[in-house]
This record gives sequence, C-alpha cells and structure tokens, in this order.
Amino acid sequence: MTDAGGVVERRIAGLTVRIDRLLCVGFGDCIDEAPESFALDEDGVVVFGADPESVGQERLVRACAACPVDALTVLDGDGRQLAP
Ligand code: SF4
Repeated sequence: MTDAGGVVERRIAGLTVRIDRLLCVGFGDCIDEAPESFALDEDGVVVFGADPESVGQERLVRACAACPVDALTVLDGDGRQLAP
C-alpha cells in the first residue's frame, strides 16, 4: 500500500484500487456494494476493508463506480481505467 497525500493504493484481485481519502465524503455507497472491500474509519473516511479480495473484480469495479465524488479509481493490469 502506498500513501501520498491522502491517496492509498492496493492491488486487489489483479486490479489496482486507489482511494483518494481527501475526496471521500463518507456516504458509504461503496460499502453498500462491497462491505468486504471498504469501511469507514473513526473519522468517517473510507479505508480498505477486512477482506478486499473476496468480492471479485466485477463487484469491486461496481463499488468504485458507485462513489458519487469519484474518490475510488480502479485500473486493470494494463493500466486501463475501469472506474470511475
Ligand atoms: S462511496 Fe465514495 S464518498 Fe462514499 S464512502 Fe465510498 S469512497 Fe467515500
């Protein structure tokens, strides 16, 4: 995981998932879609969940696409952006 100015990134299920914690407003749409992958910390800002791999690629992309403020970015193995 990398952390540069509020951005955290992880490889999950062959995808790169990037969280921009400064953009997150904590509505939880991503968590509704993939509660294994995302959670809110004590400040109400999204973090990676307990078992992010378990949801599989399709649901992971859906969860990131659900974010109303585009705080979640997903790239495939070739660096193509799948969401938002
Ligand atoms: S959907 Fe976006 S704004 Fe809402 S908790 Fe997830 S990352 Fe934050």
